[in-house]
Amino acid sequence: MATIAVTHLACTICGARYDPVPGRYTCDDCGEAGTLDVKYDYEKVAATLTRDSLATDRDTTMFRFRALLPIDADATPPPLTVGGTPLYLSPRLAEIAGVGSLWVKDEGREPTASMKDRASAIAVMKAQEEGAEVVTTASTGNAAAALAGIAASVGQATVIFVPESAPEAKVAQLLAFGATVVLVAGNYNDAFELATAAVDKWGWYNRNTGVNPYVAEGKKTVALEIVEQLGFTAPDAIFVSVGDGSIIGGVHKGLKDAIALGWIDAMPRIFGIQAAGSDYMARADESGADVVTMPAISAATAADSISADLPRDRVKALAAVTETGGAYLRVDDDHILRSIPRIAAASGVFAEPAASAAYAGVEVAVEQGLVGADDRVVVISTGSGLKDVPSVLAGVSATGAEPIRVPPSLGALETAMDR
Ligand SMILES: *Cc1c(COP(=O)(O)O)cnc(C)c1O
Ligand SMILES: [Zn+2]
Repeated sequence: MATIAVTHLACTICGARYDPVPGRYTCDDCGEAGTLDVKYDYEKVAATLTRDSLATDRDTTMFRFRALLPIDADATPPPLTVGGTPLYLSPRLAEIAGVGSLWVKDEGREPTASMKDRASAIAVMKAQEEGAEVVTTASTGNAAAALAGIAASVGQATVIFVPESAPEAKVAQLLAFGATVVLVAGNYNDAFELATAAVDKWGWYNRNTGVNPYVAEGKKTVALEIVEQLGFTAPDAIFVSVGDGSIIGGVHKGLKDAIALGWIDAMPRIFGIQAAGSDYMARADESGADVVTMPAISAATAADSISADLPRDRVKALAAVTETGGAYLRVDDDHILRSIPRIAAASGVFAEPAASAAYAGVEVAVEQGLVGADDRVVVISTGSGLKDVPSVLAGVSATGAEPIRVPPSLGALETAMDR
């Protein structure tokens, strides 16, 4: 493999080093809990990737950060446009939340409408590099849709495991993209275990979160973009919703890369936001429990994308918060759903529940005095509201908003408008 700057993979728990060879997913001693971290020679990165090179680079996708990615120097990315999503400054949302400035990073604009496209773009490239016949993943829905969509763009076969409770729009995406879809009568954890057994049996390329060392590298590009979009300055705080903990780990990694390259000089505080009914990380953070051994919980939340009994990337997810002076916060489902129209009306960004949860977390952080009027805050809106329309409608009806119903006559409209 001739990547630009990858040196090795390192276990997050014991530090053991491994060569980045095909078939190497996890640490021999620590297993899945110690998701391997991809290490780079930053001098080599800096030889090709600088603020100046970025300023003139016409590639606006996540592959503008190619030197910081675990892919071959001359590999061709999938044809879909992944990354390069807008970062919107939203003064009205900042005011409602009670923070100094607030930006929304709109990941609903990705090709399959969630941030998972960044991870799947890398996974599909790695699978093709290895000549894999089939790529598989278990997913609550978005990672599945992302894998299916990106694989479709390059003609790669996929077999995808989702819990039978996955929202209809996400399953529809999978089927339309031509994936072989396995609807598992059980939850995400059950789907994950079944996918793992299938990988062992058939030797498929495994994209599973918390197992595949490369997917977090794709996710980190969201943080690199935020840094660049803010003119190579760091915000004070970044709010990320957390299920498996892979996105938050990726965000932390991207910020560490940015510091290593001298793009920013201070690490922002990272806040991990969990649904109250799926709060493994919040419990671990409070109790100081060892996440390597802390048992699974029984998760239940309307925000399906962050419903996780046992966060698969929990070691990195905990470090993202503890090493940056952030916190894990809980938001209840009612607050998550009501936040969908709040964000939409104040900023124009349409979020699914797992995405609006990150913003709801800002309101909770303000209540607790963790952030306030002096802080510059970034919220990552991880997926589009079109992914789960029934949840959007639930959030809207909680605010009392409803359409005006009229027969098709101007007189009737006038009467209705007067009310
Ligand atoms: C997957 C996902 C998350 C959570 O990411 P994890 O890596 O599982 O913590 C949040 N929001 C959306 C929309 C997602 O699809
Ligand atoms: Zn290890």
